[in-house]
Amino acid sequence: MEYLPIFIDLKQQDCLVVGGGDIAARKASLLIKAQAKVTLVAPELSATSKAMVDAGELSWLQGYFDPAQVEQQRLVIAATDDEDVNAAVHEAAKARNILVNVADSPEQCDFILASILDRSPIVVAVSSGGDSPVLARNLRARLETLIPPNYGKLGQLMGKYRETVKQQFSRLSQRRRFWESVLEGPVTDHMLAGREELAEQTLQQQLQNPEKNDFRQGEVYLVGAGPGDPDLLTFKALRLMQQADVVFYDRLVSKEVLALVRKEAEMVYVGKQRAWHAVRQEEINTLLLEHAKQGKRVLRLKGGDPFIFGRGGEEIETLADEQIPFQVVPGITAASGCSSYAGIPLTHRDYAQSCVFVTGQLKEGELDLNWEALVQPRQTVVVYMGLAGLPELSRQLQAHGMPADKPAALVQQGTTENQRVWISTIAELPELAEKEQPVAPTLVIIGEVTRLHKTLSWFRTKE
Ligand code: SAH
Repeated sequence: MEYLPIFIDLKQQDCLVVGGGDIAARKASLLIKAQAKVTLVAPELSATSKAMVDAGELSWLQGYFDPAQVEQQRLVIAATDDEDVNAAVHEAAKARNILVNVADSPEQCDFILASILDRSPIVVAVSSGGDSPVLARNLRARLETLIPPNYGKLGQLMGKYRETVKQQFSRLSQRRRFWESVLEGPVTDHMLAGREELAEQTLQQQLQNPEKNDFRQGEVYLVGAGPGDPDLLTFKALRLMQQADVVFYDRLVSKEVLALVRKEAEMVYVGKQRAWHAVRQEEINTLLLEHAKQGKRVLRLKGGDPFIFGRGGEEIETLADEQIPFQVVPGITAASGCSSYAGIPLTHRDYAQSCVFVTGQLKEGELDLNWEALVQPRQTVVVYMGLAGLPELSRQLQAHGMPADKPAALVQQGTTENQRVWISTIAELPELAEKEQPVAPTLVIIGEVTRLHKTLSWFRTKE
């Protein structure tokens, strides 16, 4: 090991930073975060450092570096663009045995500043020993996605009860078991979901009754899986996917996304078929409820966004009635995913000032839509579930005044490697679909913006 990672208490400690540029400012701001008393030496300041001085975060010694300035400092950092000045700072600190860091010069460093993930009181520091700061930053970014923002609050809560737990359990092994059960149980779930009060109450109950181990209450996560590309999942979606006990997913969820669900979770396919939809929906609602009542973490994974043509609202109504806790995680809806990956901006200053999402699902062979609103100029119309009713859609739009040559697009399996995009007109779309036979799911986008596909398309598929 080239360096020993240590965490220094710098509260109210004097620290010196030499340099007026942005690198000096960045290092100074780290020291300030750790509540150090920072003095910055520089003849002039960059805008960033100036703002810090103006905000009273540090004091500025205007002028050139003088070796006497390192006297009594806890840490010294040199970050000027003048090697001689940096060397002088280094030498002055060394002479007084004060720890020094010279930016971008590992051989002149007694210590290095790590890439920091701050979930105070939890702090993770990553270092590559100066070999590759970029790599260290990359690793830190990965950790950032894994460690939820409320992790720090969990740490605070555990800190608050540390003494109480110590008094209650005299043996270390008992304490360890207690804290492990907290980490694997509902206290942590509540805290990470932002239910701080409930987390604390549950911790208190668990303390009063440590033998009882079913403090877990079931919970349902209604999560948007996005349009297909697993890279489009949110951090939160991924985290909940990795802690589920049972998963109910439907046809629209891509297999790449499913592959990211916790391996031990029970997977239940509840794909819907158009015709017997209504019956099944009630069954799904009941399934979610029953599993949650057994104390499980139930993941309801839905394509796109659960609240956009996803019946997400209906599924959680039953849970709300029965007071089962749930969380809803938005996903990238097909309109967003398909338009981005097809190079079709949904709004555009020159072509469309508004955008509407409608369902094109037929009811007894008919479409019940507000046609007057849909044929307005300078707007984009996105039709979900529009493939089967395409001839009717095309006919009605024209009958209500939409020009036959209005540009329109079909996007098949957007954001996946099977994505295909066809550009046509509203009059010719049914014929095109008849000929090309797009595979579900396919999205219909109507409006001048679809013309932009030709120049803005960027996503490359197998095809
Ligand atoms: N909740 C989903 C929509 C469910 S309705 C969402 O927010 O995206 C199902 C319809 O969505 C399909 O008929 C199709 O029109 C559209 N759709 C969903 N994913 C799609 C994809 N990857 N490519 C094209 N259309 C998609």
